[in-house]
Amino acid sequence: MLYEIDFLPVGEGESSGDAICLRYSIDKGNSWVVGVIDGGTQTSGEAVCTHIREYYGTETIDFAVCTHPDQDHASGLSVVMDEMTVNTLMMHCPWDYVDHLFEYVSDGRVTKESLSQRLKDGLPYAFKLYELANEKGIPIHHAFSDNENHGIPFLHTIGPSGNYYLEQVVNFRSITDITEDVVEKDALLRSIMAAARKAVNWISESWDDEKLVDPEDDATSSENNSSVILFFDFNGKKLLFTGDAGVPALEKAADKLETLGFSLQDFSFVQAPHHGSKRNTGPTILNRLIGYPRQKDTDTIFTTFISASKEGEPKHPNKRVVNAFVRRGGKVIATQGSTKCHYSNGVLIVTLIEPGLSDYFEQLEIFQHYFDQIVI
Ligand SMILES: [Zn+2]
Repeated sequence: MLYEIDFLPVGEGESSGDAICLRYSIDKGNSWVVGVIDGGTQTSGEAVCTHIREYYGTETIDFAVCTHPDQDHASGLSVVMDEMTVNTLMMHCPWDYVDHLFEYVSDGRVTKESLSQRLKDGLPYAFKLYELANEKGIPIHHAFSDNENHGIPFLHTIGPSGNYYLEQVVNFRSITDITEDVVEKDALLRSIMAAARKAVNWISESWDDEKLVDPEDDATSSENNSSVILFFDFNGKKLLFTGDAGVPALEKAADKLETLGFSLQDFSFVQAPHHGSKRNTGPTILNRLIGYPRQKDTDTIFTTFISASKEGEPKHPNKRVVNAFVRRGGKVIATQGSTKCHYSNGVLIVTLIEPGLSDYFEQLEIFQHYFDQIVI
C-alpha cells in the first residue's frame, strides 16, 4: 500500500493554518485516492491546487475535508473547490441543525430563520464552501463519528459525534449572545493571553520533568473542539489528523477508536492539534493517545507534524508541546518557514522551496534545543 501526506506551509506572521494534501493507492500507484484536509488561507488554497496538479497529476480530488469553520482552515478550500473537481465535501453545516439548536436559544425575539442566518453570517468561510458545493452539485457529507457512510476507503471519522458537535455550536462566537449555557470565556481568554505574551519567562525543562500541564476543558474554543478528527488505517500504519481539536474532543476520539476496535499508542503519524498550542494537549491525553514518556535517547517510534507559521512561536508551536511529543517517542517536524513537509510510508522528506539542505537539519536541531529552554 502506497501513501503520501504533504503539509503545505500556511500563513504569514504569527497566524498558522492547515493545508494538507494526501493520496493513497492499493494497486501500486495505478490509481490513487486523493484527499485534501483543510485548505488554509486563499494563498495556500492556490498552492494546494498547484501541488495536486504537479505532484499528483490530477484535477480530481476524491474528498475534501473542512475540519472546522475558522478562516485558517476553511478559506483556501473555496479556491480548491472553484478550480478543481471535488467529488465529496466533508464538513459541518450548523445552519442545517437549527431545529436542534433552537432549544438552546434564550432570546425570545430569535426565530429559526434568524438563528440560521446568524450561523451563516458568523461562519462565512464555511458557508461559502456549502454554497459552492450546492452550486456545483457536490455531495456534502456531514462529518460526524456516528455518520460513517462517506464511502472513502480506509478513512474513519472519529470525532466529533453529532451530539458533541451540537454542544460546541451552542458556544460558537456568533451565537453565544442568544444562547443559554454561555461561558463568558472569550474575553477572559484574550486578556489572559495578552498578559501571558507580555510576561515571557524562560524556564528550563528536563526530559524527566514535564512542565506541560493538562489544560482546562474550556481552554480552546468550541469552534476548535468541533474539529473533524480523522483516522486512517493503511494496513496497520495508523495516521491521526486532529485539526484544532482540544483535549475533551480528543478524549472522545480516543473512546471512538477503542469502540471501533483499534488500539491506541501505536500510530505511525500524528498531527499535533491546533498548530502545537499548549491549550489543546496535556500529559494525560498524550499518555493515553500516543503513550507514556520513554527513556531518553531511545529511537523515535512515530512522526508528529505541526502546521505552524514561521513566526508562530511561542504559541505555535509551544515548546512544551514539542517536548511532550519528543519525550513520547515522536520525531517532530513543523511546517514553519518555507518548507513543504512530505511523509510517505514511514519515510519523511522535507522539501525546501528555497534551496539549502542545511535548513532541514537546523530545523531538527531546534527541536532538540527545546529541552534546554522552554517558554512559558
Ligand atoms: Zn487553526
